[in-house]
Amino acid sequence: MRFAVLGVQIDAVTLVEAVRIAEGFIAAGGPHLVATANAEMVMAAGQDAALKSVLDGADLVVPDGAGVVWAARHLGHHVPERVAGFDLTQALLARAAETGWRVYFFGAAPGIAARASEAAAARWPGLTVAGVRHGYFIPAEAAAIVDAIKASRPDILLAALGVPKQEKWLAAHAAELAVPLAMGVGGTFDVMAGVAGRAPLWMQRAGLEWLYRLSREPRRIGRMMALPRFVLKVLAAKKH
Ligand code: UDP
Repeated sequence: MRFAVLGVQIDAVTLVEAVRIAEGFIAAGGPHLVATANAEMVMAAGQDAALKSVLDGADLVVPDGAGVVWAARHLGHHVPERVAGFDLTQALLARAAETGWRVYFFGAAPGIAARASEAAAARWPGLTVAGVRHGYFIPAEAAAIVDAIKASRPDILLAALGVPKQEKWLAAHAAELAVPLAMGVGGTFDVMAGVAGRAPLWMQRAGLEWLYRLSREPRRIGRMMALPRFVLKVLAAKKH
């Protein structure tokens, strides 16, 4: 079941359903793109036609973020739950350890992807790490990065380059990479590596994860001004 929030198509799936759909992607073979849509991403797509077209072409867009879930319900759609990109990543890693899927960790500052992959391998014994590579590179290095990822034959490619860079990069190289499941994961590696924290559970449940991130990284305020604008736009959209 797909619904639209300010023109961005989102799938009304639970975490468990998202993992099942991911299994289908991997069984079918690549490429497939999974995106995790929050209010910031929806607002960015409104001003960035390239990002919008990547999201339009994505195979699965999960409702990541309290704002998107609120908006969907406000607009009259049934959305069972929020599916945070971090949680979906952890669920896929757990499943990968059981099934033998190969996972490539691409992105974040030097050393972080490796630490995130080590933390994952320690938590889920049997996890096959296809490769790791940090996320700071010049355009001329892209071809070598694509070759290295391809050569490692991953079933899952996690890209932590931030929004919208990760979505655009994955879409631009999708055909060549042909990874069964590629997903942008934002700050997930930083949390897994222990250099960033997640909001306490009560804040996540209250839909206040954004406030926690803002308190940790006040420089996000500019980006986060998208949130009140998002709310106003959704309220206006319902009136029409
Ligand atoms: N990053 C990267 N390459 C870049 C820009 C960012 O690897 O050129 C990484 C950055 O180190 C961080 C992640 O991308 O680990 C972005 O995290 P953020 O929490 O900002 O994600 P978003 O909120 O955009 O999903």
